[in-house]
Amino acid sequence: MSKAEWENNEEIKIFREYLRIPTMHPNVDYTACVEFLKRQAASLALPVDVLYPVNESNPVVVMKWEGKQPELPSIILNSHTDVVPVFEDKWTHGPFSADLDDEGRIYARGSQDMKCVGTQYLAAVRALKANGFQPKRTVYLTFVPDEEVGGHLGMRELVKGDYFKKLNVGFSFDEGIASEDETYSLFYAERTLWHLKLKFGGTAGHGSLLLPNTAGEKLNYVVNKMMEFRASQVKRLEEDPTIDIGDVTTVNLTQAGGGVQNNVVPPLLEVVFDIRVAITLDLAEFEKQIRDWCDEAGGDIELKFEMKNPYVEPTKIDASNPYWLAFKQTLDELGLKTRVRVFPGATDSRYVRHAGIPALGFSPINNTTILLHDHDEYLRASTYLHGIEIYKKLIAAVSNV
Ligand code: ZN
Repeated sequence: MSKAEWENNEEIKIFREYLRIPTMHPNVDYTACVEFLKRQAASLALPVDVLYPVNESNPVVVMKWEGKQPELPSIILNSHTDVVPVFEDKWTHGPFSADLDDEGRIYARGSQDMKCVGTQYLAAVRALKANGFQPKRTVYLTFVPDEEVGGHLGMRELVKGDYFKKLNVGFSFDEGIASEDETYSLFYAERTLWHLKLKFGGTAGHGSLLLPNTAGEKLNYVVNKMMEFRASQVKRLEEDPTIDIGDVTTVNLTQAGGGVQNNVVPPLLEVVFDIRVAITLDLAEFEKQIRDWCDEAGGDIELKFEMKNPYVEPTKIDASNPYWLAFKQTLDELGLKTRVRVFPGATDSRYVRHAGIPALGFSPINNTTILLHDHDEYLRASTYLHGIEIYKKLIAAVSNV
């Protein structure tokens, strides 16, 4: 297709219109976004609800496509409406311009993460409806806020409410990540996120002495143990080509502080670790290991979890999960190569899975530089349109399980 053909394509127009709404953190104003989505629902003749699970500033938009057997568990097509901030001077195109270049690249924040998926769902539903298709199960399109800052004002609370329970959800589609080769990534689980602050108490005194049990010695001991563990994970990644970052536990020292003056041995030093625990590592055992290291270091060390997400059961990827079978079989039939992975970061899927609902993370983007959260984020128009074709098959298959 040529640039002019892409520009005149109705689905590309809708996608670009969505991209031009600057739903960027912090303090996102979702007003225009909600208006846009209401117009989309009207054009598809789908009833729409706008909910506020936490406050008026964070709307959730839900569209309903009723199935032939609405008593069956439903299917959710989920996407988040917010995007991360931009460093505008690093962009060669306006980050909310949705410029389309001669190669068909559409530049905008959210073009990969994940406004593309939101309007691709809409496009697929439009096409299926035009073909006279009606799903067996009811399909809900959920557009949620706040995902990029933790989902505490969006999906986390949505899944706890009565409205959500009434949807009787059996399975959820959610976001994946672009892939730089021909293979599509398919995510069935996420690692468990911890933010751990360690406060080392110790003997205080003059910097000219060699006092026992200082905070610095204890910090040194525990940080070394954490770094040895980190090195073991680096080694695993290097030695096993079949695994990737989502399969190992990452440990990073992200903050360090304490002390009062250059020549005073301080009574307190602090460090913070960002830890993403692999689904294969036992959380309780790992925490005990860290506590043991603190005891070995001499004690008087406080462990404070500033974030301690619970373990979330991965979505089953075997014959016990009929939605998985339909999803995977559809991708196989389309001849698409897939790589089944654990998501390296955190998405709203963790709340959905925690509520006992199977969810798969998938963004139909391959052969594309991964630019989520990066400058000059773009998606090719051809990739976008191909993604609609993929969703047509996926939504039809999964909603007919
Ligand atoms: Zn995202």
